[in-house]
Amino acid sequence: MRVVQPRHQSTAFLVVGGPTVVIDVAGLRLVTDPTFDGPGDYGALLKTEGPAIDPAEVADADAVLVSHADHADNLDASGRDFALAAPLIVTNPGSARALGGAARGLSPWEGVDVGRGVRVTAVPATHGPADGELDARGWVNCEVTGFVIEAGRERIYVSGDNTSMAHVGRIRDRFGSFDHAVVHAGRATVPGKFSGRPLSLSSERASAAAQLLEAPHVVVVHQTGWAHFVDGPGATIRAFRDAGILNVLDMAPHGRWSSAAR
Ligand SMILES: [Zn+2]
Repeated sequence: MRVVQPRHQSTAFLVVGGPTVVIDVAGLRLVTDPTFDGPGDYGALLKTEGPAIDPAEVADADAVLVSHADHADNLDASGRDFALAAPLIVTNPGSARALGGAARGLSPWEGVDVGRGVRVTAVPATHGPADGELDARGWVNCEVTGFVIEAGRERIYVSGDNTSMAHVGRIRDRFGSFDHAVVHAGRATVPGKFSGRPLSLSSERASAAAQLLEAPHVVVVHQTGWAHFVDGPGATIRAFRDAGILNVLDMAPHGRWSSAAR
């Protein structure tokens, strides 16, 4: 039996692996895009690393944020079980219908109070190139949402699988600057989809997003643990160093808490 991770009162982040991050904020515990399976072959996708912690360690989560329920690298089998056991799932409308249970589907700019004065707002995300082929429901690749978490005056951006800097600009315009940004930036590519063009931000674009959002603390995720990522930690360090903002990049290893003072 694993010990539950101690809960932080001030904002803290723990990267589990892939897109999965535990965010303690205002005494609440949120988990984003839960993935807790071991390495394995998912057909189109190959998982190469298991999670840094056991899901039982954070099973006290108050809410789970799911950017999209369509892809195994954002919601694997044990991650789905984890989400469905949580008191609240916040996601996009299509994924809420697919997940059922406690899932609450939010359209872009729609928000929900999740307790203790914390508000989670859905923000736009596009899961591929702007001119990419649309699915049956009219989304590039599939319906995806990002999130903005607000706790008092503190703001956290969680990108979800997004390629669009235009969306990041709109989010900056709407909310102002951010204290923390969690950015999916593996430059994911899948052969045969959009001619191999990226399905998520590259390291370069992640550093540009960090500058746009003026975020003094950036957690870059979803760039290791699966075979379909092109950019990894080396590319990220280069990109942030090239932009002159290496100081904002969170270097905490997976499974370790980090908390950046505002
Ligand atoms: Zn995806």
